[in-house]
Amino acid sequence: MYAKFHIKSGDRIKYHKCSSFWPGIKFAEPINKPFIGWIIGNGKKIDFWRDTWATSIPFREHIDLPNHLWKLCIAKVSDFINPDGWNFPTDISLVLLAMGINISSITCNQNSVDLRIWQPDIHGNFSLKNAFESTRTRLGTAWWWMYTWLQCLHPDLSGFAWKLMNRILPTDNLIQRKGIPLVSICNQCGLTAESAHHLFFECNVAKVLWSWVTSTFNIAAVDDNDS
Ligand SMILES: [Zn+2]
Repeated sequence: MYAKFHIKSGDRIKYHKCSSFWPGIKFAEPINKPFIGWIIGNGKKIDFWRDTWATSIPFREHIDLPNHLWKLCIAKVSDFINPDGWNFPTDISLVLLAMGINISSITCNQNSVDLRIWQPDIHGNFSLKNAFESTRTRLGTAWWWMYTWLQCLHPDLSGFAWKLMNRILPTDNLIQRKGIPLVSICNQCGLTAESAHHLFFECNVAKVLWSWVTSTFNIAAVDDNDS
């Protein structure tokens, strides 16, 4: 499975693969990676550049190199371990130092194999339940998240709120920005072009609605510049 979605150097494939797994892997791999840790043995299983053996973000993500050069970066951690322990050439030592990694605090053991562990679990075991719990909190940190997906709301309304908060409502100005030519006019007032900001704050119809909402529910009006 790994070989199917990664090229020889260890990078993920860049083209689309016709597989039901591919979109899931593309989505989940970068989210899960910071949670994967290693108990380093001989380092033969660990990709020096792409695995999270020294930091929660792989070196690959920190260093800006063109793709064709990354293809040449195929070192394993084992390449830097000898019977006495770590054995880095000077340039790599400097890179580690620059990244604030104290290599002497990381242990390796040439006589054992590497063990991949799932860090959030106390025993290091991966389970779908734990993975979901660990990654879910990372995704749902926006304050408005809990107000959009409620059981009492129709899914259409939740979807609308979600698009609104992510600023991807298909308003005329957004459609124009995607390169689709159209003549834009606000359907409510007919006075100006349609944008989310106009529809929700500037439009006279919106202003009347907001004023009705604030007085009916007795809540203080918030200036649209305060958001
Ligand atoms: Zn308007």
